[in-house]
Amino acid sequence: MADKDVAKAREASRRWKRANPEKVRAQKQRWEASNPEKVRAQKRRSRAKNPPTEEQRARAREAGRRWRAKNPLTQEERAAKKERDRQYRERNIETIQARKASYREREGENLAAAQRARYRRDIESWRERRAERYWANPEAARVATRKWAEENPDKARDSARRSRKANPEGARERRRRYRARKRGVAFEAWTTVEILERDGWECQIDDCRCPGGRVIDPSAQPHSLWEGVADHIQPVSKGGEDTAANLQAAHRSCNCAKGTRWQDG
Ligand SMILES: [Zn+2]
Repeated sequence: MADKDVAKAREASRRWKRANPEKVRAQKQRWEASNPEKVRAQKRRSRAKNPPTEEQRARAREAGRRWRAKNPLTQEERAAKKERDRQYRERNIETIQARKASYREREGENLAAAQRARYRRDIESWRERRAERYWANPEAARVATRKWAEENPDKARDSARRSRKANPEGARERRRRYRARKRGVAFEAWTTVEILERDGWECQIDDCRCPGGRVIDPSAQPHSLWEGVADHIQPVSKGGEDTAANLQAAHRSCNCAKGTRWQDG
């Protein structure tokens, strides 16, 4: 065909298309329906050549949301989609993992900051949820914590330090509970003040050496010689129980002098 004829044929085709838009559309739809792979490839190519802007993507996401809200899936369709998704994930495990890793790599800092912000905004409800999770299965929670501590020794040390500072009495109790369990002796929760109150703030050690007498001053400086402490009558290291029955009020200094001399009860 001469160039002139080609041009003529093209012009005729264009005229026909302009005159028959319905037929053109129907033709196109038929072709698309019977060539889904080619349609997808075409879309991929065009997207790669002209990647959508962030704004276009947001608009498309919004349109998708609206469409899905108007056309909810039936139960069967939902199940079918779930199955399709599952198969897709199974076929593309590595791609998905790589994508997730790269996302974390790119956004790690932002994700952590966003999570911290969410946490701070709603600290109370996070605490509640954590407590709920813990009490739903305390043993599993303890195992998980131990595993985390083994994998993150530095963070675990920091966290323990912060918690001791925030609640020293609780920390002492945990330490005692741990020691008692290790030695296989009985344990019950007690506080120094409880023991001092019970014994009327009087040092129970036989050879009390306090120059002011047996009375214990509640306002004595922490860690000072004559501060009140709870003394194990039979030391835990010698098999004594960590219970109120095996405790007595004492001056710190008298307790130290006694040390672990306890032998013959
Ligand atoms: Zn004393």
